[in-house]
Amino acid sequence: MSEERSLNFLEEIIEEDIATGKHGGRVHTRFPPEPNGYLHIGHATSICLNFGLAKKYNGKCNLRFDDTNPVTEETEYVESIKNDIKWLGFHWDGEYYASDYFDKLYDFAVTLIKKGLAYVDDSTAEQIAATKGSFEKPGIESPNRSRSIEENLQLFADMKAGKYKDGEKTLRAKIDMAHPNLLLRDPLMYRIKHEHHHRTGNKWCIYPMYDYAHGQSDSIEEITHSICTLEFIHHRPLYNWFIEQLGIFPSHQYEFARRNLTYTVMSKRKLLQLVNENHVAGWDDPRMPTISGMRRRGYPPEALRQFSDTVGIAKRENIVDVGLLEFCVREHLNKTCNRVMAVLDPVKLVITNYPQGQTEEFKAENNPEDPYAGSRNIPFSGELWIEREDFMENAPKKYFRLAPGNMVRLKNAYIVKCDGCKKDDAGNITEIHCTYIPESKSGEDTSGLSPKGTIHWVSIQHAKTAEVRMYDRLFRVEDPSNEEGNFKDYINPDSLSILPSVYIEPELAKAKPGDKVQFMRKGYFCLDADSTAGKLIFNRTVTLKDAWAKEAKKG
Ligand code: ATP
Ligand code: MG
Repeated sequence: MSEERSLNFLEEIIEEDIATGKHGGRVHTRFPPEPNGYLHIGHATSICLNFGLAKKYNGKCNLRFDDTNPVTEETEYVESIKNDIKWLGFHWDGEYYASDYFDKLYDFAVTLIKKGLAYVDDSTAEQIAATKGSFEKPGIESPNRSRSIEENLQLFADMKAGKYKDGEKTLRAKIDMAHPNLLLRDPLMYRIKHEHHHRTGNKWCIYPMYDYAHGQSDSIEEITHSICTLEFIHHRPLYNWFIEQLGIFPSHQYEFARRNLTYTVMSKRKLLQLVNENHVAGWDDPRMPTISGMRRRGYPPEALRQFSDTVGIAKRENIVDVGLLEFCVREHLNKTCNRVMAVLDPVKLVITNYPQGQTEEFKAENNPEDPYAGSRNIPFSGELWIEREDFMENAPKKYFRLAPGNMVRLKNAYIVKCDGCKKDDAGNITEIHCTYIPESKSGEDTSGLSPKGTIHWVSIQHAKTAEVRMYDRLFRVEDPSNEEGNFKDYINPDSLSILPSVYIEPELAKAKPGDKVQFMRKGYFCLDADSTAGKLIFNRTVTLKDAWAKEAKKG
């Protein structure tokens, strides 16, 4: 199904490496999440990229938890990340944790100290920041920079042994305080944190910095192509410096642009705020741009993969229209979802000439897009629920739904002619009255009539009820992180509206959480995990058409 497309820049690099026999033509990537939150659609891009490249080039892809910061990391996140990757359809070759390498990383640090390339510094965080210099000005060397190797070895061992308090000492690489790249001005390698770690417990009170741990972890796993996002481009010389000085496996870092999406925020820090401050119901709230939120909303994994593939990768930051993701979602749901009838905003329709007490069953095709989807029976009677918007008392000429004198086809059933309506004292329409044409039965119609409109319905005596959660964009503006003030000022107050009592076909009572259907003319819906036997809850996954695009055209 995938269309021919030209190679992206990473594929070009890899094919060149294979051609020149670099690393014996081996391709080994990794996906390195920090377990400090749930994965979002940006991570899905990185997953599709790393696992996809490994698959395409018969290589391997590791899952490595970048768990070097004990404060923010939790086992709950580790489990959710594994679950999300599996759901997306990928399998990792090895499951690793940067924390598994703490001993090795410590030994590497000792090696660098012995080579005179690292030193223990007593400077405070403030002093280190103040002596960093700027683009115009070189930094100032710490007075501890000239400590002897023996002293550094002792102090570093003491740091590890817990002799010092948080922040009292650090281990720094001894590179060049005048280096034009500020990241190479004696960067931190280790800091002291007396914190419990989700895997190593209380064994360590010193933890490696990202820049020191990441490249070495890649190297330990003999990763050939270490792919990360663009903000790390200036870190690459440091990545290389450690590897070269240690003389270990030469992993190489490549950067691509972060994937951003309109009408949402993507950083885990911001998503965590939305969760903690109850702007959403949790990480897997269907409005969240998280993989778990999208899964719960009813997005199929194929759609996320297709989206990732379609957008491709770029070398420059960009923001992708969420409409494209929704397009991919619709495309997959259209192929796979059964068409069913549900009435969201009900009004009663009475067929006055239908025999009292009679019921019938009509055969309905489950999915016209899928010949193997089969069919089901739908019960019919003389009293139906239809959508309130499918009737107008004083309709304009081109209104092809119900209006006095108009005819419509009831989907899969008969043609009816509208005779009028009944109202309560306040003028609200309470009942619509029709007569049906007995010889117009769907499939065996001899009436010769062909009304322009078809509407959906549910038989009142057979209907089941369900709650429907209608979701819309979580933010009112395209790029909330780029607006003035706080991103939370731009939350869409109408991102969720609940329809407590929607009428559905009885067949739908059998649905299981995660089941996806099309409510004819209304959109795609997915049974929520909150559903119980007594109470069905459907999430609206996506509308049938892009309602916002229509708005935009109207201006
Ligand atoms: P965030 O800033 O959203 O918290 P992060 O980069 O800190 O994300 P990590 O857990 O460190 O999250 O990311 C794991 C991998 O996913 C990294 O290789 C990272 O570059 C990649 N990644 C994260 N966000 C995006 C994104 N928006 N687009 C593409 N790749 C991303
Ligand atoms: Mg990160």
